[in-house]
Amino acid sequence: MEGLKQKSGGLDTPVQFLKGIGPRRASQLAKLGIETVGQLLFHIPRRYVDRSRTVPIRQVMPGDEITVFGRIAASASRRTRTYKQLVSCIVRDETGMIEAVWFHRPDLKGRFHAGQEIMLSGKVTRYRGKRFVNPFFELLEHDDDFSGINAIVPVYPLTEGFSVWTMRRAIRTALDRYLKLVPETLTYEIREHYGFPEIWEALETIHFPKNVGATLRARKRLVYDELFYFELLLAMRRQRYSTQRKGQQLLETGELTSRFKKRLPFKFTRAQERVIHEILEDMGQRKCMNRLLQGDVGSGKTVVAIYAMLVACENQTQAAMMAPTEILATQHFQGWTRKLSSLSVNTRLLTGSTRVAERREILEGLENGSVRMVFGTHALIEQGVKFSRLGLVVVDEQHRFGVMQRAALLNKGVNPDFLVMTATPIPRTLTLTVYGDLDVSVLDEKPPGRKPVKTWVVPEHKRERMYGFVEERIAAGEQAFVVCPLIEESEKIDVTSAIRTYEKIRAAFPHRSVGLVHGRIKSDERRKMMDSFRNHEIDILVATTVIEVGVDIPNATVMVIEHPERFGLAQLHQLRGRIGRGGHESYCILMVSRGVQETTERLKFFSRSNDGFALAEKDMELRGPGEIMGRRQHGLPDLHLADLFLDREILYRARHDAFKLVKLDPELRHPGHERIMEILKSRYSDKEKLLRVG
Ligand code: ADP
Ligand code: MG
Repeated sequence: MEGLKQKSGGLDTPVQFLKGIGPRRASQLAKLGIETVGQLLFHIPRRYVDRSRTVPIRQVMPGDEITVFGRIAASASRRTRTYKQLVSCIVRDETGMIEAVWFHRPDLKGRFHAGQEIMLSGKVTRYRGKRFVNPFFELLEHDDDFSGINAIVPVYPLTEGFSVWTMRRAIRTALDRYLKLVPETLTYEIREHYGFPEIWEALETIHFPKNVGATLRARKRLVYDELFYFELLLAMRRQRYSTQRKGQQLLETGELTSRFKKRLPFKFTRAQERVIHEILEDMGQRKCMNRLLQGDVGSGKTVVAIYAMLVACENQTQAAMMAPTEILATQHFQGWTRKLSSLSVNTRLLTGSTRVAERREILEGLENGSVRMVFGTHALIEQGVKFSRLGLVVVDEQHRFGVMQRAALLNKGVNPDFLVMTATPIPRTLTLTVYGDLDVSVLDEKPPGRKPVKTWVVPEHKRERMYGFVEERIAAGEQAFVVCPLIEESEKIDVTSAIRTYEKIRAAFPHRSVGLVHGRIKSDERRKMMDSFRNHEIDILVATTVIEVGVDIPNATVMVIEHPERFGLAQLHQLRGRIGRGGHESYCILMVSRGVQETTERLKFFSRSNDGFALAEKDMELRGPGEIMGRRQHGLPDLHLADLFLDREILYRARHDAFKLVKLDPELRHPGHERIMEILKSRYSDKEKLLRVG
């Protein structure tokens, strides 16, 4: 309420003060994150519909991308056999009828009523006749003026109860009164260079377009504007990391690393050599390393990290590696502890299930410096964990950690170096945004002798044959994973389904030993189960996605994935990365029950590609960046206008321009740059801490 009383008359005037917007509409707008007039002006259309190009329903052909108008004849919502939520509508016009369905849109339940007029827009597919899948739609109010002069109608992201027409009226009012208050945010040079319109023209055009070309230019300008300042923020953060945080100088002495290298059963790949060099270069300087290590599954990231950790130890500092799951932390620890202790590096494991007495002892060792390396989970960043002198922090599978957790760990050391590893290949556009303030090293080569995993899409009716194949591999002394369908709705259904899969597999392989791991199984039991699988006491391990990351069992050569259509490609690739780790030929089998065409294509693409980066790009194209990253995990401000896939070219330019500027003038103090700094600050005013480092 405070905010409402303050009367400013500027762009931060609450929308409620706009003519035609009462408290009810204002609270609806608030759901879209629009509280002020300024935010409303920058609520730009998702797309446009050219009304002059609507098509009579009878003429609609599968494959067309078109818009139709009609009246809802019937509507229903239900769950499909695969637990998908589905809302459907039958829409008629004078010439015919067409079905529209939406998946995974619980918000649409009860939204459609017979008799309402609706506009549908999207691609038509063939399915028992013709239908739209997840089309854009607009419900039309009774008094909507259909014959309006503008043929190009903007489609806004709307919230329930808010029609495009209400939105347009509100924006019209806001433009008329407040447009002139919007400051120009791009310099003349930049506008000239790219041929961008001024901000005022851009906003007017984007909301009330005269033709399609002008909307594209206006949108480009606004997107560039958003990305430019976003990248500027990242550029300054990166700049400040390296100048403000005086780090420790950690130089390789070779005392540990040379012995370590000799004892490794393999030689580093060229990519590993290069990346180690990049990391050591950073560690050897009096600044804080802040580096992202990317590499496809199996590219050998861990050993690179261990090497860097040893360098930290050579300098009498401590090194910590934090993993997202206990399985993973334990595996890293078990995998390396023998080698490390043979170098007399005292190494410990600290997780949530470390017993009290042992925990106390480890904490003491960390504090007095006798423990030199520690592996662990979130338990490492709890209060009470103190380091004597922390030199390097490695975070495995970073995307599972929030920024705050990362900060908590950083604060445990006197400016430790920081290495983030991720096995989910990240599309370049995300590397430049979500991770845009980090330096990046890429392991783009796999250790020799790795054969790509053979991947097959297998229809349900061939299940028996698939079992036969799995049996063959087991008879040959190999092992198999069976991955349960992903169920997002509830952990309870997830467990039930895992148990059901387990029963099914046990029935199919009565003479084999079958194990089960899922999220509800206690961690020490889970660990025991993983150990028995590793020791080959178990032939087939049925698992939920708890096995997704990092698990390393070379003798497992087969992975059967149930309902693969529920997983993203990057996630499937992660799963598949669990096999093909030994010298044997490996096989990933995707069991599809009934192929929707799109799914089948997606999975076929997956079966043909072993390149995690290509898959991640495809995933982003198909599902959007949010699905890959997990929403709001990264702690950076959201991008409202830019689409990281469609606008990637603009992103590259904005990034280039912003980083160039900061290189030239790190604190933006030169004449003419102060204005840019001011805008940057005002744009991220409530997020000033973003500019602070650590
Ligand atoms: P990532 O974490 O990148 O998926 P890992 O670090 O788990 O990969 O490495 C996968 C496997 O490859 C491990 O068993 C590791 O010991 C082995 N490995 C790492 N580097 C090499 C190399 N240069 N040559 C042969 N094997 C390697
Ligand atoms: Mg790993």
